Amino acid sequence: MRIILLGPPGSGKGTQSTYISKCFNITHLSTGDILRSEVNSSTDLGIIAKKYMDKGDLIPDDLMIKAIKNQIVHLSSGFLLDGFPRTLAQAKSLDLLLEQIKNPLDKVICLNVSKEEILNRLSFRAICNDCSHNYNLATTPPRVKNICDMCGGKILIRSDDNPEAIINRLRIYDNLTLPVIDYYESTTKCFSVKAFGKPEDVFKTIENLLRL
Ligand SMILES: [Zn+2]
Repeated sequence: MRIILLGPPGSGKGTQSTYISKCFNITHLSTGDILRSEVNSSTDLGIIAKKYMDKGDLIPDDLMIKAIKNQIVHLSSGFLLDGFPRTLAQAKSLDLLLEQIKNPLDKVICLNVSKEEILNRLSFRAICNDCSHNYNLATTPPRVKNICDMCGGKILIRSDDNPEAIINRLRIYDNLTLPVIDYYESTTKCFSVKAFGKPEDVFKTIENLLRL
């Protein structure tokens, strides 16, 4: 099964990705992880990508598509792509690539959450610096203040998790990614899911859709 998971920051994409990849035994491909693995193995692509990353610049689409291709061609199982495509141009390039390797997408899942809910979630979000476990300081705080339940690491609040920065990230997401959602919605592969309530319940809805 080949899936794309789309959703704004704070929609619970990371959590749902973990559930989906475990349940359906498919590889979770996050663009951040893909790039890090190319950089860490010092591949030709990784060396070029690092130059962009060091400057804080966005990775050009053709480079990102190459990195994704490198990962996908080696996979015997399916995959779940998280964090890509972010723009209409990327969505079209990805379709072209998957067509070339004769592995078209099966489904696109879009997570929907209201802006108020996202603001509420992200304003209280904190992340373990070591294992990246997510906490919500209002609803699921760690047992010991600032210490990760999972690994004992230090829990940090991202500097860009303040209301102004969150609203700005949502605006960027809307501008870039809503055309992507429109693009997939013109196909029969796209399903919209209300990402509201308990993560397990949201996953149940997704699981049912993926089993259709
Ligand atoms: Zn931790």
